[in-house]
Amino acid sequence: MFSKLLVANRGEIACRVIRTARALGIRTVAVYSAADAGALHVAMADEAYPIGPAPARESYLNIGRLIEAAERSGAEAMHPGYGFLSENGDFAEACAKAGIVFVGPPPAAIRAMGSKAAAKALMERAGVPLVPGYHGAAQDETSLAAAALRVGYPVLIKASAGGGGKGMRVVEAPWTFAAALASAKREAASAFGDDRVLIEKYLTRPRHIEMQVFADRHGNTLHLFERDCSIQRRHQKVVEEAPAPGLDAERRRAMGEAAVAAARAVGYVGAGTVEFIAEGGAFYFMEMNTRLQVEHPVTEAITGLDLVEWQLRIAAGEALPLRQEEVAARGHAVEARLYAEDPARDFLPVTGGLRRLRAPAPAPDLRIDTGVREGDAVSVHYDPMIAKVIAWGEDRNAALRRLAAGLARYRIAGLTTNRDFLLRLLRHPAFAACAYDTGFIEHYRAELLPPPSPAPPHALAAASLALLLDESAAGSGSGDPHSPWHRRDFWRLNGDTYRDLRWAEGETQRLVRAYYRGERYRLEIDGAASDGGAMRLPDGDLAVDLDGVRVALAVSRLGDEVTVVGDDASWRLLYIDPLAHRTEEEAAGGRLSAPMPGKVAQVLVTSGARVKRGQALMVLEAMKMEHTIAAPADGTVERVDYAPGDLVEEGAELIAFSTPD
Ligand code: ADP
Repeated sequence: MFSKLLVANRGEIACRVIRTARALGIRTVAVYSAADAGALHVAMADEAYPIGPAPARESYLNIGRLIEAAERSGAEAMHPGYGFLSENGDFAEACAKAGIVFVGPPPAAIRAMGSKAAAKALMERAGVPLVPGYHGAAQDETSLAAAALRVGYPVLIKASAGGGGKGMRVVEAPWTFAAALASAKREAASAFGDDRVLIEKYLTRPRHIEMQVFADRHGNTLHLFERDCSIQRRHQKVVEEAPAPGLDAERRRAMGEAAVAAARAVGYVGAGTVEFIAEGGAFYFMEMNTRLQVEHPVTEAITGLDLVEWQLRIAAGEALPLRQEEVAARGHAVEARLYAEDPARDFLPVTGGLRRLRAPAPAPDLRIDTGVREGDAVSVHYDPMIAKVIAWGEDRNAALRRLAAGLARYRIAGLTTNRDFLLRLLRHPAFAACAYDTGFIEHYRAELLPPPSPAPPHALAAASLALLLDESAAGSGSGDPHSPWHRRDFWRLNGDTYRDLRWAEGETQRLVRAYYRGERYRLEIDGAASDGGAMRLPDGDLAVDLDGVRVALAVSRLGDEVTVVGDDASWRLLYIDPLAHRTEEEAAGGRLSAPMPGKVAQVLVTSGARVKRGQALMVLEAMKMEHTIAAPADGTVERVDYAPGDLVEEGAELIAFSTPD
């Protein structure tokens, strides 16, 4: 076994790999970009080396800097994690050249599976079933459109070099094919530097089931069962589980054999995943990921194995620790990915500071993999995942219950997350009944994404009492004199005087009138009176009771904005300061701002251009997709503030725009 390992990654996966390496007595080396000097993975490792500026292509994707860090540190092996360079044949080769063991398959196997088209051709020869489609060399529009017609609509256009759902377009009918093809090719070219695509029959009610495989250098290959990853948004996984509900032993065996055959066909070594799409009784090969997957913990939970340990042992030349017939699975495991993203806005990634981040207390059978701490930021440069929460149970219901209970204990404020969405999903009756396919989220969108419900009395009381508690803790005259929270003009500690706290929740105004009563308050919330009190709990939550009913809530604030987070939902309230006069009204319709952090892909207009309502003005590219900024009305482009390639933060003014009146 190696004595020193460099982890060429960041975030939760770097932390995950470091944990196992440490357990095996291997010294760990972290690398970090300028944005990550204070990151958790750096703090966890035994040593750390800077590798460049924040943008990934100048740091985590810079092969030269990584090799240099390995050489400086004396690391004998390099673990690529997932994403970044984990499926880059050149990186694996550069490691080999430098005499560093790459913890992964040989470069040839990475390359063979790197192109979805080439991989499909290879699998066809190995007798692995494929989705009907076209993965040939012809790339002109006429040939591809003809192939789509032969395959039969609806079809899916996929980037051959694809990953992360980029360059993928569903096409329902022939007359929209050309536009979808152009857009897929553009996205593929910018994401992968390769605009080749393939065409597949688009299955309408499939499940995504993948097989975890492992191979060693001694000719042994096996699988560690399957994971069902059908719960997806934007064709990207968000909840995964093992075993796959409803998969019978016969199909599991057939899928396992196909996966092992796929791995053998490319001379595979290490951990890999063979992804299948299944519909009815049939299953088809989609692609092979030549690395560890994000969702590997569910396999660990049911098999009791440490997949990173296996990777390291195999990389060190050991044989697979078990034979196929010795691998056993027990119980059920489910993983939910907690992301900084806004489900209500089509799951767009969000960035910002994790002003408050409290995870559930450690519990048996509840695992949390994370790479961030309270106070860290989710930046535009990297993946917006905050944590993976994994629960195990004797059966599926037990696992789901544990997972939901764990997620409910999360307290995150400072940015929007998908937590409340995940809870609704996990508790949805159709999900509980295993009645799902990859269209689940789309199908139940209205139930999974209901309009925000108004803050209940406990939440309003929490926001108000937190404010009053902080004021009294600050005492008169102390604290920040400019903070509205420390203003005491209306406050007298006697008689029947009261304090009105006005809150804006969206368009609605809410009023809390607080009468001081010794240790407690009489609270009139939107006119309804109750006896209220609040107490800080050791974990930072505020225990609020109204007429004796006690609820623990987290209250976090930035300026006048207060976020209240409870077990099932979160609310955002704006404190209306009676003394502040709000003057800066946003000039209506005068600006077009970025709906998400991202990169400007295309600028389609210049200053002075007269445009029609709905005309595309700019194309933004964020982590997983293209987003078009269109003219809100007929008018004139006054100014364009960005050029292609520029990075923009959420809310940045992209284009100044005027309408004739
Ligand atoms: P990427 O590598 O970009 O993530 P994949 O090929 O793994 O793309 O596909 C991602 C997801 O898209 C799959 O999990 C599945 O939900 C959906 N998908 C892929 N191919 C098909 C298909 N032929 N029909 C229907 N859905 C598909």
